[in-house]
Amino acid sequence: MADPAETMELVVVGGGPGGYAAAFHAADLGLKVTLIDPEPNPGGVCLYRGCIPSKALLHVARLISEAKEAEAAGISFGPAKIDLDKLRQFKAGVVERLTGGLGQLSRARKITYRQGKAVFTGQHELAVTDGAGHTEQLAFQQAIIATGSHAATLKALPEHERVMNSRQALDLPDVPKRLLVVGGGYIGVEMASVYAQLGSAVTVVELTGGLLPGVDPDLVKPLAARLGPKLAALRFGTKVTKATVKGKTVTVSFEGPDGKAEESFDRVLVAVGRVPNSQGIGLEALGIAADGHGFIPVDLARRTQLPHIFAIGDVAGQPMLAHKASHEGMVAAAAAAGKKVAFEPQAIPAVVFTDPEVAWCGLGEEDARRAGVEVKVGRFPWAASGRALTMGRSDGLTKVVADAKTGRVLGVGMVGPGAGELIAEGVLAVEMAAVAEDLALSVHPHPTLSETVMEAAASVFGKSLHYLGR
Ligand code: NAD
Repeated sequence: MADPAETMELVVVGGGPGGYAAAFHAADLGLKVTLIDPEPNPGGVCLYRGCIPSKALLHVARLISEAKEAEAAGISFGPAKIDLDKLRQFKAGVVERLTGGLGQLSRARKITYRQGKAVFTGQHELAVTDGAGHTEQLAFQQAIIATGSHAATLKALPEHERVMNSRQALDLPDVPKRLLVVGGGYIGVEMASVYAQLGSAVTVVELTGGLLPGVDPDLVKPLAARLGPKLAALRFGTKVTKATVKGKTVTVSFEGPDGKAEESFDRVLVAVGRVPNSQGIGLEALGIAADGHGFIPVDLARRTQLPHIFAIGDVAGQPMLAHKASHEGMVAAAAAAGKKVAFEPQAIPAVVFTDPEVAWCGLGEEDARRAGVEVKVGRFPWAASGRALTMGRSDGLTKVVADAKTGRVLGVGMVGPGAGELIAEGVLAVEMAAVAEDLALSVHPHPTLSETVMEAAASVFGKSLHYLGR
């Protein structure tokens, strides 16, 4: 039994962007907080082996392609020379700096950080096991579960170091001559972009009919047009039925629209979605059951069926995105501190950090029609943007989806370099209940890509200055 005298006021299990945000906010609200995570510092998958390392590599991939494309403007650098050790160091340095910073912020807030893995053993008790295998029993008053998710695997593929998940692929074991990426979702397209730019012949195999299923096809088209030619092959409507590893070669069998095929690769990356970490954390001891997808059911304040237990982030439902987790974390922390709060965003942005970037928020054109909402859509192709042309990039598009009667901005989507930054204006517009005219009449700086939002908004009901189409 844990000593009741040492009962923790609030324990946060999991130190990713959800968990550390919850812990930091709870501490700022005056709670005594313990944060538990197996890593030496807070950061979780996002900082250690997800968003941040992948963005460091995508940045480098973009540099390589921009250097090549500069030839069109009369600037030649010659072929890129890649020092993998240095590249790994650059990536590791970014991760170390950010996670170290979070460690400092945690200490400055007087949060007790425990390195280890926690498993609930009762409704007010958990066991923490450290890296050396030493287990300690702890008591708590309230808990926030922020255990995240892990990569889904495919039964058809063997467990082998040549069959990687995103974590292993981000470690850059080498630059394989032939890489197969299974899954054309977020991770698939991002990692395919990185490895293709580093010099691998990359094949992407996707179960559905196109890249990024579920994303507005208008936004996916420019990405497919630019990424496609950099890949060895794109196989749609295809599934992997078998793979065998012999020496350094993985031989993969496919079944697709053209029948069966077999091909050999040096490595395979599996990116077919993520699974919430609701197993093996002792939910049974709490008497809480995950739903059919493995998510822990929660209410608007992110409370589970037990009023003193909260769940946030990937383990608490879609979308599995770091920024959604952080905001949920802050809501759960405030609720734990006794405040009346709810997680009710009108728009959670999503960004795919490829080149071009694809970003959207709120209601998409198709979602709106499916939901029976009558909308008007304003479009602005970046071919009509002065700034885009100065960058040699005319492949982008910005769309504003507005309520047909009121003009209220319901969603914004865009594709193009920097779309991931620009989408924040769309989020603000949706959250502030802006009408399209608000965006169209707001003076945007010239010449910038942000003008594409203003122009797309202007074309919802009228005409944009530089584009007469729809
Ligand atoms: P995903 O759900 O985005 O994509 C998985 C893809 O795999 C889908 O297109 C699906 O049709 C395909 N697929 C499934 N089974 C298959 C099979 N047997 N053969 C071929 N294709 C198959 O998942 P992900 O790319 O693994 O990413 C996981 C999660 O991580 C995402 O849902 C996202 O929330 C998050 N993530 C976000 C970012 C970002 O915000 N930029 C980046 C990476 C990951």
